Amino acid sequence: MAEALHHYIGGEIVKGTSGRTAEVFNPAIGEVKATVDLASKAELDAAVETAKAAFPGWAATSPLQRARVMFRFKELLEQNKAKLAELIGAEHGKVLGDAAGEVTRGIEVVEFACGIPQLLKGEFTENVGTGVDAYTVRQPLGVVAGITPFNFPAMVPMWMFPVALACGNAFILKPSERDPSAPLYLAQLLKEAGLPDGVFNVVNGDKEAVDAILAHPDIEAVSFVGSTPIAEYVYTTGTASGKRVQALGGAKNHMIVMPDADMDQATDALMGAAYGSAGERCMAVSVAVAVGEAGDQLLERLEPKVRGLKIGAYTDADAEMGPLVTRQHYDKVRGYVDQGVEEGAKLVVDGRDFRMQGYEKGYFLGGCLFDEVKPEMKIYKEEIFGPVLSVVRSGSYEEALELVNGHEFGNGTAIFTRDGDAARNFVQRAKIGMVGVNVPIPVPMAFHSFGGWKRSLFGDHHMHGPEGVRFYTRMKAVTTRWPTGIRSGAEFVMPTMR
Ligand code: NAD
Repeated sequence: MAEALHHYIGGEIVKGTSGRTAEVFNPAIGEVKATVDLASKAELDAAVETAKAAFPGWAATSPLQRARVMFRFKELLEQNKAKLAELIGAEHGKVLGDAAGEVTRGIEVVEFACGIPQLLKGEFTENVGTGVDAYTVRQPLGVVAGITPFNFPAMVPMWMFPVALACGNAFILKPSERDPSAPLYLAQLLKEAGLPDGVFNVVNGDKEAVDAILAHPDIEAVSFVGSTPIAEYVYTTGTASGKRVQALGGAKNHMIVMPDADMDQATDALMGAAYGSAGERCMAVSVAVAVGEAGDQLLERLEPKVRGLKIGAYTDADAEMGPLVTRQHYDKVRGYVDQGVEEGAKLVVDGRDFRMQGYEKGYFLGGCLFDEVKPEMKIYKEEIFGPVLSVVRSGSYEEALELVNGHEFGNGTAIFTRDGDAARNFVQRAKIGMVGVNVPIPVPMAFHSFGGWKRSLFGDHHMHGPEGVRFYTRMKAVTTRWPTGIRSGAEFVMPTMR
């Protein structure tokens, strides 16, 4: 019997009433693991009412007390990391070590949120005028929502809610319907940590729930992470109804390999960044731009390693990558590989016939490696989101930089070189939100902020870190005078300070 997953509202598991559900698969065995309720507009509205009622009390709780809840939550996450990794692996398919790494990156945001008393400190000026003081404070927005993708079911929600909650907001999470167990478990841990009921709610659902969030007059802000077309839709629809929105989209991350790079280091970096989590990472490197003679040197190193990738179920401790998330996604990624061959790219390693012994119904695709990929090809232009690495040959650094800057996405990029001048030039000129120098996946730590440029992010704020605090608060400027101050009578001209 498949497990039935419901919503989490007001500190309790709440069964859906819409009558609509979705199937959640274990991608390693290709079988239904659970069903998840899909919320109607009425159910979303009810969750917002609950969050709205919980908000004033939570906003009035001192930042220090809110931080203490975060400290306890962090402790619980550490204690239950293995359980969370298991929930992620069984529905997403990524191997347990990788799933535990995702939880750790989420914990780091909780650690950042523990510093909220310091982060919320405002500014104060004594005597902006005689006997007049001025200060600024940052106040929470109210009820805010997060809509998250399948590929990091614990970490991406934790990019959002620890900061939002620590700032004093109430939160509605609409996780991916493909792997909802980890987010539901996070809700339980928050309750155990002492978060008051109703401050954090999980509403499972699909487009209907998302549209209800975007239209709801009492949701002040929406954080979104997912594919670019939906990110753009969420941004334009949400802002049109007056909300603050940050919407992070897809990616096509390029890694430039210069001829002077340490080729062994660059090869290892590419292997992990392209094939880790079966390429289902927004910061995965999917394009290697090999400059000059770097191309042949890279290919000769990459080919045997891609052939030798250790693929397995999430429980296999030796596996380097697992299956794709669903049959539908498997078909899509495989379709891109077929397309690349038709377009004339050279398929150096073909993972399409890979079968995982004992897991024949799982969604396993072997690692694929293309050489001689050209910018006009579909496999270059579009995000594949699978274990497929495209090598593009480039005659010069300038040509390679043009490729990076000309692509519609601008999430992450990296350069591998020993030349400090080239690296510095790249850091300055790359039109990309996150840049690595000899670091393939330059994901900022929690106390910095995460976000791309161009069509990888719609909105003004990056996520977590200082940008997260700005996104989830509103500034208020206060000017005060006490009765003992100067009395100058009624003033009818524009007030100026003396
Ligand atoms: P997705 O866009 O299909 O889904 C994301 C969320 O949007 C889910 O909660 C889903 O239920 C909802 N959704 C899906 N279709 C919708 C529709 N038509 N209307 C309204 N809501 C809808 O993305 P995914 O497949 O879950 O995740 C993979 C994508 O996310 C990739 O493109 C990846 O690059 C991107 N991603 C980006 C980042 C980043 O930081 N930029 C991080 C992780 C993932």
